[in-house]
Amino acid sequence: MTPTIPSITLHDGTSIPQLGFGVCLIPPGDTERLVSEALEAGYRHFDAAAIYGNEEGVGKAIAASGIPRDEIYVTTKLWNDRHDDAADALSESLERLGFDHVNLYLIHWPVPRQNRYVQAWEQLVELQEQGLTRSIGVSNFLPEHLDRLEMHSSVLPVVNQVELHPAFQPWKDIDAARVHGIKVQAWSPLGRGRDDLLDAPEILDVAAAHGVSPAQAVIRWHLQNGVILFPKSAHPERIRENIDVFGFELSPDEMAAITSLDEGEAGRVGEHPNEV
Ligand code: NAD
Repeated sequence: MTPTIPSITLHDGTSIPQLGFGVCLIPPGDTERLVSEALEAGYRHFDAAAIYGNEEGVGKAIAASGIPRDEIYVTTKLWNDRHDDAADALSESLERLGFDHVNLYLIHWPVPRQNRYVQAWEQLVELQEQGLTRSIGVSNFLPEHLDRLEMHSSVLPVVNQVELHPAFQPWKDIDAARVHGIKVQAWSPLGRGRDDLLDAPEILDVAAAHGVSPAQAVIRWHLQNGVILFPKSAHPERIRENIDVFGFELSPDEMAAITSLDEGEAGRVGEHPNEV
């Protein structure tokens, strides 16, 4: 049976399935097959990016599925060397995807050294007005980057996509954005599968108590925190496992046990936003 995935309403009035499938590091030659597997398993939200080099496979799988385009949510992202050139960059992404619009277009990284992200944001506002993307947001923005957008634009991002998993939990930054109605999306929600994370005794205990896998326990922790996430896997059985998370619920103590695994800065698996 296809699972019913909860939706989160964004501040522009659109809604997004809370759980999706991320395609970073899925080889282009495998993308159509694995996205087709994900669609078959019930995923209706795909997190892509120009830099992942596999938008074509995402678009082909969606076209081949026969599922109406308006039942599928697709995000793609503006890469760092296109901050001056977002209209062309989005048009190239749309061509690769085979779509006339995406649901969400994100600035992938702020790249403060370049100092072009405010101009990039102004272009995204225009692309949304033109209907080429339904919603616009950002990724890897720190509070100071969001503050600058707020100073320059009357339109705020609907989401900020940031690194977030049990070993790295920047709640202070997330809550500062949430005050402005900006929802958080977790990238690397499983900590990129770090063994010492998924094998932590706290996670193993929670998983054993519900007869689920450690990855399922962590996905459930994110969902109950109100976070939008899209774990990646290149294995069909794990793709199915990662969406089979709606038949159990973590208790407040179990949520707290996973939350206790925060390692602060030391827990990052990706780069610091000011260093990219
Ligand atoms: P992830 O936390 O989703 O981890 C993926 C890895 O976890 C897999 O490669 C595998 O090793 C393991 N895994 C997956 N399912 C498992 C299971 N059921 N059991 C055991 N191990 C399992 O990491 P990610 O791919 O880095 O992040 C997910 C998505 O987030 C990406 O595909 C991409 O869409 C997005 N992302 C965005 C940014 C950004 O800068 N905006 C950066 C990184 C990732």
